Amino acid sequence: MKTLIKIRDLKKVFRMGQEKVVALNGINLDIYQGEVLCLLGTSGSGKSTLLNMIAGLDKPTKGSIEIAGIHIEKLNEAQVTKFRQLNVGFVFQAYNLIQGLNAVDNVALGLIFKGIDKKKRQAMAVQILKDVGLATRLKHKPNEMSGGQQQRVSIARAFVDQPKIVFADEPTGNLDSKTSIEIMNMIVGMAKNHNQTMIIVTHDPQTAEYADRIVEIKDGKIIEIKDNVSIFKGEKKDDEDEDENKEENNESQAI
Ligand code: ADP
Ligand code: MG
Repeated sequence: MKTLIKIRDLKKVFRMGQEKVVALNGINLDIYQGEVLCLLGTSGSGKSTLLNMIAGLDKPTKGSIEIAGIHIEKLNEAQVTKFRQLNVGFVFQAYNLIQGLNAVDNVALGLIFKGIDKKKRQAMAVQILKDVGLATRLKHKPNEMSGGQQQRVSIARAFVDQPKIVFADEPTGNLDSKTSIEIMNMIVGMAKNHNQTMIIVTHDPQTAEYADRIVEIKDGKIIEIKDNVSIFKGEKKDDEDEDENKEENNESQAI
């Protein structure tokens, strides 16, 4: 298995006035290309902090994160933003959709930064919204959809241009158990179909069961790493059009 993400001696200390909070305390982890990895731990254990470091949303106090040989912690703001635009998709607990935009426009928005023309952006968005079962909700705005539907829009947004890495922070945190099962099967299925690397953060052991590997975190440390047989149920389909929408991109932050 090929290592895609290499985390070494990672430490994060938040300073709150006089107080220090050690959120991450010496994390070492290799994440493999194409795996679905879960960071599991109770509230406050440091999961989101770790995810944010890997995604370049925040800088570590110490240590390093290499993604395909690029030291994320050394990139400046503009470089890290570019890196995310080219390589990363996000699914959040609270969906984080733009309220004033309909489903198609929410999904198509991020494609602007890839220099894809409007017609193609819209076509890509419509296609993936159909794939996630929202063919009849294309023009709906977030507040005109259920939580599960909004999360499917956010999944469509995360996967529309088949990023190398998809991050999901408590993706089922606001959903009922039946919808959670649908959503987990959907995101894991999409990641598997395109050999994407997926990192899921959750406090819920049942959600963790969808992963190929479960990394348990407590007090900012890894306490256990175990291989898992995913409970993912879905079809792995061969997608002949896989690379059709990929833009040629020779910029240095593309991995
Ligand atoms: P989890 O996602 O596992 O619930 P977090 O990574 O959000 O945990 O938080 C880990 C610890 O770091 C907690 O004690 C939290 O209070 C603290 N923490 C997180 N973000 C900040 C911040 N921006 N400022 C200060 N403390 C923070
Ligand atoms: Mg969290």
